[in-house]
Amino acid sequence: MYDILRVDIHNIYINSYNKHLYQFRYDIDMRIAIIGAGVAGSFLASILNREHNVEVFESSKREEHFPVCAWGTSRYMLEYYSKLADLNFDDYILHIGKKIEMRLPTGEKEFLDCNGLVTYDKERWEKDLLSKVRVNYGIRVSSDTFPLHRYDYVLDCTGFHRTMLPHVDDFIVPAYEYLLENVKHDEFYIIGYKNATGYFWYFPLNNNRAFVGAGDVKKVYHGMEEFFNENKDVKIIRKIGRPIRITPPTKMEPFSDRNIIGVGESIGCVFPLLGEGIIPSLICSEILLNSIISNKIDIARYRNEVIKRFRYYDNVYRLVRLLIENRFSKIKHVNIIYSIYRNMKREEKRFGFEINLNKLRRILNSLHNI
Ligand SMILES: Cc1cc2nc3c(=O)[nH]c(=O)nc-3n(C[C@H](O)[C@H](O)[C@H](O)COP(=O)(O)OP(=O)(O)OC[C@H]3O[C@@H](n4cnc5c(N)ncnc54)[C@H](O)[C@@H]3O)c2cc1C
Repeated sequence: MYDILRVDIHNIYINSYNKHLYQFRYDIDMRIAIIGAGVAGSFLASILNREHNVEVFESSKREEHFPVCAWGTSRYMLEYYSKLADLNFDDYILHIGKKIEMRLPTGEKEFLDCNGLVTYDKERWEKDLLSKVRVNYGIRVSSDTFPLHRYDYVLDCTGFHRTMLPHVDDFIVPAYEYLLENVKHDEFYIIGYKNATGYFWYFPLNNNRAFVGAGDVKKVYHGMEEFFNENKDVKIIRKIGRPIRITPPTKMEPFSDRNIIGVGESIGCVFPLLGEGIIPSLICSEILLNSIISNKIDIARYRNEVIKRFRYYDNVYRLVRLLIENRFSKIKHVNIIYSIYRNMKREEKRFGFEINLNKLRRILNSLHNI
């Protein structure tokens, strides 16, 4: 059924081991608790619930549950994951990008062509994924009190919170955003901060709505005040925020503890240069699904595959830290740039916008050369 899609996704992405994803059949149900109804939790719940005894625990109340995210992603990957979960991604798309404007600290601008970049209704997408699943809303689970013994596996899908797994000293970027109505601008734009300490974003939705937000290690959030000064007519619908983890998986171990297994941002599946975590969390979820063999999760295999798949995020993270700490050198670190470029280019459709070496170099130069 998914043959055409599968061929396409093989071109888009390095899915060499997912051939059996749609053929899961288990002899005995597993009892699985999923903590956190975000991207990874909702997607996993929707698939695992077909064959297993699944229960989801979510800290927000049902009526207040709202994904803290700017809802920007690549449609190619989301079409694939939606289809696996029997959803039609077209039903959720709010805006299709044509070009992203990047305003750089030197005053220059760079324009990137979009190829699949969209915003989508992530709130409704996650709700629909959970439509047939038992979800306990309004329960903030704690690792001390949760009855682990009642489940074969407990999946920590709490994202940034990493509630169920041992603490790791990680690197986070504080961020917040507004959901706005009555906006005028209808394209994606970004203001990059000096030394890559973060960026301001404007992500259009539908019906003259948009997210504007900013993440910044220094918590200065340049661009936000200017935006509201220049757009007096916009109406604020919501203000939301939380930090984004940009530490890559290799630095987020352990991924498991007793019968608990981390999935998604809880184990560092976020692209560090952009703080983009929807697709990485879904890829990580898919790796987990492919690690289920004879109604057991092969944790060693899962760990190894996650490390392998996200290995190049180490270099991306290294580059971000070099820029932030003002230790980046165009000459000394040229190999890192080429390696990141090659990896991103290989996955171009997964990002949803053009990956161009000259533009990447110009952007990095501008972030660095002030
Ligand atoms: C402001 C902002 C904007 C972003 N914009 C984008 C974007 O446009 N595109 C993109 O790709 N990525 C974006 N990201 C990153 C992306 O949202 C996350 O990386 C991604 O959602 C992580 O998915 P996840 O399933 O691991 O966790 P999440 O989607 O964060 O879900 C975690 C869930 O766990 C719940 N939870 C937490 N603690 C507990 C607990 N103790 N008990 C029960 N439930 C709990 C939370 O309420 C939440 O529902 C953004 C992040 C932020 C902060």
